[in-house]
Amino acid sequence: MGTRIGLYGGTFDPIHHGHLISARALAEQLQLTRVILIPSAQPPHKPDVAHTPIADRIAMVRAAVEGDALFEVSTIEAERDGPSFTFDTVTAFREWLGDEAELFWFIGGDSLPELKTWHRVRELVERVTIVTAARPGWKLPSEADLTEAVGPRAARRLLDHCIATPKIGISATQIRSRCAEGRSIRYLAPEAVVEYVTSHALYRSRR
Ligand code: ATP
Repeated sequence: MGTRIGLYGGTFDPIHHGHLISARALAEQLQLTRVILIPSAQPPHKPDVAHTPIADRIAMVRAAVEGDALFEVSTIEAERDGPSFTFDTVTAFREWLGDEAELFWFIGGDSLPELKTWHRVRELVERVTIVTAARPGWKLPSEADLTEAVGPRAARRLLDHCIATPKIGISATQIRSRCAEGRSIRYLAPEAVVEYVTSHALYRSRR
């Protein structure tokens, strides 16, 4: 088997155990050698949202996976101006790693119905295998909807790569709300992330 690499992009504001548990489960099921976490500097689908500075989000992702050989952190999207399009990121990884590497792009189930709005999605699905992790409350989009978005062959590939992962009902929104309400976020994210949030006084006020 050649090199099989998972690419996991997200706002990670902050990274939490939902991300990490589903990433590890996907890595195990797909027999990946590594998973590269890619914090999105300007998530194209959240244009009006004020995010925590990308440097803080990268620091939290690094702290979350420190010492875990499965994970690496990429700053590629922080180094690019403009919206952080997955297509551009995947194209860059393809160039670095060559055609031999098998690349898998992880998304949560809630992102699959939105795929049709992604930049250059028809080319994207040819360059990378999109793998969808099940998430609480998630409903599988119909094959007809996916076919409309990416064509019949790619739609079937998307459906074939929907993978059941442990359902962890944690979201970054919930973590930010709890912080704003002065409630504890212990156990929702790795301890190092909780410490970072506390010491940098993040999420103290509602957005
Ligand atoms: P927010 O609540 O701010 O929208 P989020 O918790 O959904 O954030 P993101 O950084 O936006 O986190 O998500 C990155 C990717 O991780 C998305 O594809 C999302 O679907 C997925 N994801 C987020 N939380 C979970 C979870 N608990 N289980 C599985 N996947 C998740």
